Amino acid sequence: MRISRRNFVRQMTVGAAVSATPWHLDELSQAASHRRASSRRPGELIRLDMNINPYGPSPKVAEAVRENLDLVKWYPDGEYGPLVEHLAEFHRVKSNQVTLGSGSREVLRMAVAAFLARGRTLVLASPTYEPMANLAKQVRAEVIAVPINRRFAHDLEAMLHRTNTSTGMVYICNPNNPTGSLTPRKDLEAFLEKLPQKVAVVIDEAYHEYVGPTSDYASFIDHLLEDERVIVVRTFSKIYGLAGLRLGYAVSSKEVSLKLSLTQLERGINILATRAAAAALNDSDYVRLSSRRNKDERQEFYNQTNARMLRQVDSHTNFVFTKIGLPSSQVIEHFERNNITLGPIIPQMDKYVRVAISTEENMKEFWRVWDLLPSMSHEMD
Ligand code: PLP
Repeated sequence: MRISRRNFVRQMTVGAAVSATPWHLDELSQAASHRRASSRRPGELIRLDMNINPYGPSPKVAEAVRENLDLVKWYPDGEYGPLVEHLAEFHRVKSNQVTLGSGSREVLRMAVAAFLARGRTLVLASPTYEPMANLAKQVRAEVIAVPINRRFAHDLEAMLHRTNTSTGMVYICNPNNPTGSLTPRKDLEAFLEKLPQKVAVVIDEAYHEYVGPTSDYASFIDHLLEDERVIVVRTFSKIYGLAGLRLGYAVSSKEVSLKLSLTQLERGINILATRAAAAALNDSDYVRLSSRRNKDERQEFYNQTNARMLRQVDSHTNFVFTKIGLPSSQVIEHFERNNITLGPIIPQMDKYVRVAISTEENMKEFWRVWDLLPSMSHEMD
């Protein structure tokens, strides 16, 4: 059999990876598939599978990026200190409590590396932000997924029962992705009181800025940072509209921050991201505007679901977990054929689909394509 040079190199590379670890090829390709580059560019499709700010960053941030283009030839040397200081001031914490990451996913990975390993367990909700379980599996930790309750909140009582001396971390996504729902603050405080001392608690507040005023919610950055166990994770990818620049951070105790930084990528944050983030933090008007816009567009989404007798989980985010009368894979496929991406499929809640709120024009197209689906209203309970 002739073997091309390209195939030979590929086989050698895969072979080396297989012999270096006990993994099988199937397992390897499954683990690697989500890292592979897709050739689809945003813009060719209407992407309602990514919960970003459809209007992008504020004009002031865009200007800061343009103004700082000249910097890209440099390594980001003295850039991180000022940004950390800025974030510390913004949150009224000390700078040694802030840890930067290349996107909050990178921060989550750092937390996993710090607190999980073979023999340790991660307790999280089901469903929740899916990559978290994958990150834990990559370090061979056991994942204990506890179904959310009837109010679509974390079932904290059940989660508490699943913690024991091998629990390394509890992950709380609030508001939760993919459901968009809140877990009440008072329940979280009661949970923390009962939780064993040594367990790290990652509170992922990726959608914090979209939560409107409600007594059920308060960010954990504002309170409880004296609690050594709590690590709050935030991102610039959502309301700030900077997903492509990759910047997230954790606020924690200084001891935990040090621990996180042990596996931080050196110079892992690009120079433009640091400048854009500084401009974004200074433009609170844009955050308010984006939140208001999202609220109005989300209300219009509800109006459309009501008109079609559909139901959804009450959302505190920029996406809506909508109940459908068909398996979600069928609905997702239908939309994909019509150039709209939805998802991901949530096997444990197969009759729901997560829809990101986008521009008026995109949402009009969404409903046009929706109305091409076979009628399902009689299947709703
Ligand atoms: N956490 C949650 C809950 C998310 O939904 C996302 C992205 O969708 C992330 C973290 C990762 O965001 P990023 O790595 O872009 O900061």
